[in-house]
Amino acid sequence: MSEHFDVVVIGAGPGGYVAALKAGQLGAKTAIVEKHYLGGTCLNYGCIPSKALLSSAELIHQIGESEKWGVKVAGGVSFDWPAIQMRKDKVISGLRGGIGALLKGRKVTAFAGTAKLDGPGKVAIALENGEKHTITADNVILATGSSPIRIPGWPTDAQYVCTSDEAVHWQDLPKKLLIIGGGVIGCEFACMCREFGVEVTIVEMLPALLGVMDLDLGSGLLNVFKKRGITCHLDTKVQAMTVDNGIVKSVLSNGATLQTDRVLVATGRKPNTKDLGLETVGIAAGPRGFIAVDEFMRTAVKGYYCIGDANGKCLLAHAASAHGVVAVENALGHKKPFHAPVPAAVYTFPEIAAVGLSEEEAREQQLPISIGRFALSSLGKAMATNHTEGFVKVIRHRETDELLGVHMMGHNATECIAAAGALMHTRASVNEFSEVVFAHPTIGESLKEAAEDALGAGLHMAPRKLIKVAIGA
Ligand SMILES: Cc1cc2nc3c(=O)[nH]c(=O)nc-3n(C[C@H](O)[C@H](O)[C@H](O)COP(=O)(O)OP(=O)(O)OC[C@H]3O[C@@H](n4cnc5c(N)ncnc54)[C@H](O)[C@@H]3O)c2cc1C
Repeated sequence: MSEHFDVVVIGAGPGGYVAALKAGQLGAKTAIVEKHYLGGTCLNYGCIPSKALLSSAELIHQIGESEKWGVKVAGGVSFDWPAIQMRKDKVISGLRGGIGALLKGRKVTAFAGTAKLDGPGKVAIALENGEKHTITADNVILATGSSPIRIPGWPTDAQYVCTSDEAVHWQDLPKKLLIIGGGVIGCEFACMCREFGVEVTIVEMLPALLGVMDLDLGSGLLNVFKKRGITCHLDTKVQAMTVDNGIVKSVLSNGATLQTDRVLVATGRKPNTKDLGLETVGIAAGPRGFIAVDEFMRTAVKGYYCIGDANGKCLLAHAASAHGVVAVENALGHKKPFHAPVPAAVYTFPEIAAVGLSEEEAREQQLPISIGRFALSSLGKAMATNHTEGFVKVIRHRETDELLGVHMMGHNATECIAAAGALMHTRASVNEFSEVVFAHPTIGESLKEAAEDALGAGLHMAPRKLIKVAIGA
């Protein structure tokens, strides 16, 4: 007879393993199935490896600028790529081991193999050792994540045309790199590779970098990239690509032809839902393969939940983990919807981070808004530490004082955004935001300054004209 579980989780990325830990914590008999590595994309091909590599790149960048601090580095800076890769691998394996230990600690049964739904309540596992095993469950949480999109018809040899899956583990660096896609992944790789001396070109079909974020962020980053010698072709598509004699030739819609020794395709991701046996339980994926869920992470079929990248709501690791907790709580009888604002972070240097509505989204919804801004060049901590590039932008509902969104480019933006996210989570007004006391000197003070500016009440900038504000209204 097959073993029965209260909760079975398929996929051990940041969605799945957190869901399994939560289920274990709540006393449920829990199993998790993973066909590859614990930690999923995030730990093995995404967030963690890319940030490990970026941290080496940022250090090079900072040393390159050391004279601005009055510090001289004799002989200039160099790097050891295999050592940088080795450090990254060590970080990954340490964290992977940590997840395994956490699962054990919560008495979660972990299966190494590929899971497939096999009719109501049944999950068939093709184990890594070649054996087949079937388990049953009251609740199944689909946490199978996503994979990078590869463009059909383009060369497939990853030495020449690759995705982020290969790029985070490159054995060597290209001399000339074309990055297709100026979204988060493309921009992070561009920023990183440039510091390692790679000649980088980005081709983006939208008119802006980071096109789905507030447009001021993308244009701020474009200026930074220009200064660093990263070429960006916006509003441009790659129409054809061939590999000839070890050189990749790419023909662009603006008439240019690029010759590079490698291409990184960073044009988006597709959900891993194709061979999951969804039809055996009556779940239909949407046209792009994502599995629709409601605010409780429930699919259309009772007892089946879908979290993280696979549901397409928000392709970020922390969203996946938050979905996982919500799915488990609902599966185990609590009624908990998910409405939390989810911050987004881009680990270029300077960093970029945002939470809530962009100016463009607020305008599209025809909301009456006022916008507060603060430039880091006016901030004491930014000047003291030589991190004056960037700004904060606060979007406020002019009539209700609701805090609609916060957008930041600047040093430590990905940390600073936590304050804005917490305030939005508690539905604080912009007035309340402006009353929060931030430590001085910190980069975070720029958030308060921008909130004050949205009220027309900023003190560290020239007075605004024509705005009347009822403080405390
Ligand atoms: C280069 C890069 C950088 C990124 N940086 C960030 C970042 O800085 N911050 C951030 O928030 N997000 C980042 N992301 C996105 C983040 O990695 C994903 O949003 C996150 O990993 C999604 O988590 P998940 O649990 O839904 O899926 P995944 O992490 O994709 O995990 C799904 C797991 O399910 C397994 N699986 C699939 N099918 C089966 C099956 N049938 N049986 C068993 N196992 C199966 C897979 O092997 C995988 O391990 C980045 C992504 C990339 C590619």
